[in-house]
Amino acid sequence: MTVELHHVPTGEVVAYEHTRESLDRKLAEADSIVADLIDVDQSYEQQGTASTAFPPRPGAMCRWCDFREHCPEGQAVGSAALPWEALEPTSA
Ligand code: SF4
Repeated sequence: MTVELHHVPTGEVVAYEHTRESLDRKLAEADSIVADLIDVDQSYEQQGTASTAFPPRPGAMCRWCDFREHCPEGQAVGSAALPWEALEPTSA
């Protein structure tokens, strides 16, 4: 079975030929991820923010995180990043 990734802006198409075994592995991975997400969703539904199923992992990227305003651990990392803060200075 062939799977293809179509990059619309450039028209480039990248193809990969799956075997029955490689496709079964990918489907099993997807099923496993879905099972984990269902567990986390149920934990949050039952315990709300007291759930420890999906703990915050503060780090350098917290300053750019879309969920930072709801995350005390992320806020403790530092102030929110300015939108242009990650841009490299130009030498001109
Ligand atoms: S701000 Fe919170 S949710 Fe966002 S990356 Fe940091 S720890 Fe994770």
